[in-house]
Amino acid sequence: MTTAHHPRKRFGQNFLKDPGVIENIIKLIHPKKNENLLEIGPGLGALTFPILDQVAHLTVIEIDHDLIHKLQKKWPEPQLTIVSADVLNVDFSHYGQRLRIIGNLPYNISTPLLFHLAQFRAQIQDLHFMLQKEVIDRMIANPGTTAFGRLSVMLQYWFTMEKLLEVPAEAFHPKPKVESAIIRMVPKLTIPSAINESELSCLVKAAFSQRRKTLRNTLKGTINPVLFSQAEIDSGLRAEDLSVSDYVRLANLLTTSQNRN
Ligand code: SAM
Repeated sequence: MTTAHHPRKRFGQNFLKDPGVIENIIKLIHPKKNENLLEIGPGLGALTFPILDQVAHLTVIEIDHDLIHKLQKKWPEPQLTIVSADVLNVDFSHYGQRLRIIGNLPYNISTPLLFHLAQFRAQIQDLHFMLQKEVIDRMIANPGTTAFGRLSVMLQYWFTMEKLLEVPAEAFHPKPKVESAIIRMVPKLTIPSAINESELSCLVKAAFSQRRKTLRNTLKGTINPVLFSQAEIDSGLRAEDLSVSDYVRLANLLTTSQNRN
């Protein structure tokens, strides 16, 4: 006999319960038989089982041992491979090429998880994630808007992103306090390449650390007036006013000027 599962808040457990929403998500993912699919946080299997109906093999990563136990009982190996782990510690380089990663993600770890996954983007075909709608709006925000921040710059640098579907809180149990949406992320094949990506990342972090101030003030000590003018960037602007390519240009000038010294 299987016992009912009590959703665990610490694992961000809001299970999908609306069959219409689940069907729409599966259609958007459009899994094909021999693709390399991996799901983060299968939970009670709302997305897992319909996907297993369509593919030859699926890997899932789950942290909650009770849920793992339930999944093991419901679906036999080898079609389903269950990895018992905290996804933030998973080395995705072990899971092959052209990975299609999906998940109704635990919202409490969404930002660190997106940055973690970006490290493995060369192996990733695409990502389809349910996230808090407000986070997706920040991911795809345009420069010059208040939603534009570090998350927008870095993720837009690495991925092409598209919001596909908004999902009401009523589609989950328990009902979350926030609205949700589905995003598709595809790694960019050619990116406006930063000479040193960690330099870019540090610069963006520093710029948005005081987003109300001008860049001249926020980046004082890092970017001198000469670099601003070489990059053709007005230092009286604020962090949200620069585009992704402005940040890349500025970071590259910073890297080359440091290499010269
Ligand atoms: N996919 C299911 C659904 O749509 O109903 C469950 C989604 S629920 C929002 C998030 C799932 O991620 C839960 O199963 C939870 O236990 C799992 N999870 C939370 N933190 C995790 C972590 N750090 N690593 C792996 N799985 C995690």
